[in-house]
Amino acid sequence: MSIDPEAECAASLDEADSLKNFRGRFLIPKAADGRDAIYLTGNSLGLQPKTTRAYIEAELDDWARLGVEGHLHAAHPWLPYHEFLTEKMARVVGAKPIETVVMNSLTVNLHLMLVSFYRPEGRRRKIIIEKGAFPSDRYAVESQLKFHSVADGLIELAPRDGEATLRTDDILDAIERTGDELALVMLGGVNYYTGQAFDIEAITAAGHRAGAIVGFDLAHAAGNLELRLHDSNADFAVWCSYKYLNAGPGGIAGAFVHERHARDLERPRFAGWWGHDKVTRFLMGRDFVPLEGAEGWQISNPPIFQLAALRASLDIFDEATMSALRAKSEKLTAHLERLLREIGSDRIEIITPTDPQQRGCQLSIRVKDAKRGLFDAITCRGVIADWREPDVIRVAPVPLYNTFRDAEDFAKMLKECL
Ligand SMILES: *Cc1c(COP(=O)(O)O)cnc(C)c1O
Repeated sequence: MSIDPEAECAASLDEADSLKNFRGRFLIPKAADGRDAIYLTGNSLGLQPKTTRAYIEAELDDWARLGVEGHLHAAHPWLPYHEFLTEKMARVVGAKPIETVVMNSLTVNLHLMLVSFYRPEGRRRKIIIEKGAFPSDRYAVESQLKFHSVADGLIELAPRDGEATLRTDDILDAIERTGDELALVMLGGVNYYTGQAFDIEAITAAGHRAGAIVGFDLAHAAGNLELRLHDSNADFAVWCSYKYLNAGPGGIAGAFVHERHARDLERPRFAGWWGHDKVTRFLMGRDFVPLEGAEGWQISNPPIFQLAALRASLDIFDEATMSALRAKSEKLTAHLERLLREIGSDRIEIITPTDPQQRGCQLSIRVKDAKRGLFDAITCRGVIADWREPDVIRVAPVPLYNTFRDAEDFAKMLKECL
């Protein structure tokens, strides 16, 4: 039996991987031939942990057994249920528990943060975002500008001609130039299209020097990069949990409000009873008394089944730790990048930065003379990746459940199909 040297290399890398057993904790979709698919879309919808079903069933059982009493007497009582996730979620994003809350969905949380932190006043009205931001973020920001009747308030940062990603210096220059007209910087942590990771600390420092608020959408960064939100000094951040955080479709989202705003109870916000002081919440009083910290931005009592699904996944993250995941992720993505480069720059171009500090696990591959047929061909061979018009294939080898073998199989198939 002959052994393919590439496969042998992947096998030894997989064997040496200290996180290799985590793959077995996930349900891997099957390809048409019955083998495990090469799943490279954890950046879009993370895979289901095998434990998720039991976590949700426990709540269904407690509801059946206890009815309303489950609020206090479920094994994990529903009244404080979101608190069971706070510390673990905070660890994933490098925040303090008081800065972290799990609630709503991503764009909703973005609006709630904008309501509190975009406060145009006098000359200071402009918002900096990326050109090519995820459409929902753009819609949210534009609608907030309209809501405040601010015209021409949007500044969109575009890469230089002939370049695919933004230079950090150009971002910092734009912030400085906007100066006292700048109200808010709202960037992604990782751009969904290019996979570029931004320098959260440097951008935050520049925004604050200009006297502005700085917030981040971490949809593609949470559970992917090793974030240090508290130390970064960012004012707020929001993220979803169905991408790298494996909480399932439409999973409940996260929000971060820096500790220095935790006791600023006068800051305007959209209020609801779940953000009200816990001690007096059920006295059903007239006046809203917000909780300190990020919890004070909650509006409604949360969906317990969604929280249960996210808890199942966060328990796995807590065991694996972000630092170990990130260490594997850098190796895995570099390995895939090396294999893709062998295909040759006449056929493909990786638009994601090569510097590991400027990316997470995703690589965005621009295909020369692309036809969708190529993508369909790799799909037929059992690859689940993602095609973005006009010519980009996005692949994200996720350290929790992807293998070096996945990277090699994908690179080989892409080469064959080209
Ligand atoms: C995935 C993603 C969204 C999706 O928003 P939802 O409110 O969860 O539907 C928004 N913004 C960014 C940057 C994303 O990556």
